[in-house]
Amino acid sequence: MVTELQSDNGGIDQRSALVVFSGGQDSATCLAWALDRFDHVETLGFHYGQVHDIEMSVREGVREAIRNIRPEWKDRLGPDHVHDAGIIGEISQSELTGASETKLRTAGLPATFVPGRNLVFLTLAAALAYRRGAKHIVTGVCETDFSGYPDCRDDTIKAVQLAVNLGMESRFVVHTPLMWITKAQSWSLAEDLGGSALVSAINEKTHTCYTGDRSVLHDWGYGCGKCDACRLRATGWKSYVEGNR
Ligand code: ZN
Repeated sequence: MVTELQSDNGGIDQRSALVVFSGGQDSATCLAWALDRFDHVETLGFHYGQVHDIEMSVREGVREAIRNIRPEWKDRLGPDHVHDAGIIGEISQSELTGASETKLRTAGLPATFVPGRNLVFLTLAAALAYRRGAKHIVTGVCETDFSGYPDCRDDTIKAVQLAVNLGMESRFVVHTPLMWITKAQSWSLAEDLGGSALVSAINEKTHTCYTGDRSVLHDWGYGCGKCDACRLRATGWKSYVEGNR
């Protein structure tokens, strides 16, 4: 028996979605994607001991900008949820030192890799979706430009979907609209969903830079321009404006 009736909302809503929303470009694009498809959309963010808190602090501004792109999106956007997943940061900080970091690099993994992060986030998202009665979970992971993070791969996400559905006796659908597209194509997707207004909102309001630098607004958005996240974002933007989609 599927125990879907134990949610806060009195049941699982087939038209309701929960977006894992960090405040970065990818999750902002996913939020617009979800608002375009589902009748009710809520967002979820995590504090997990990030080096800086800027990404978390821009979230509400991004939500506000996106919900105002289309009148129907305004009606569809529900509450934001922020939860503490600090244990992830505690574990990775204690292990991401010395030999462990060298080991990561040797294994071809970036030093910024936080083991288990997306696995935990998606499991917590499913737990919240269960309580909130949302059938759909949306996450901005991407295998095309995945920066070497193995927990962004399609196989990983499919395995987590299977695990949470078995473990919660549910029928959640985990959506990954960016899985097979490039960063340039993500900008094109934003343009298709909300025109130049959405592209500008995502460009100016979201934060991707690892160092938390928001001192200069480049044509591709705010950031230090030097870290891996900035380089990926800048390259994607350049490709987008040059029409290489
Ligand atoms: Zn940066």
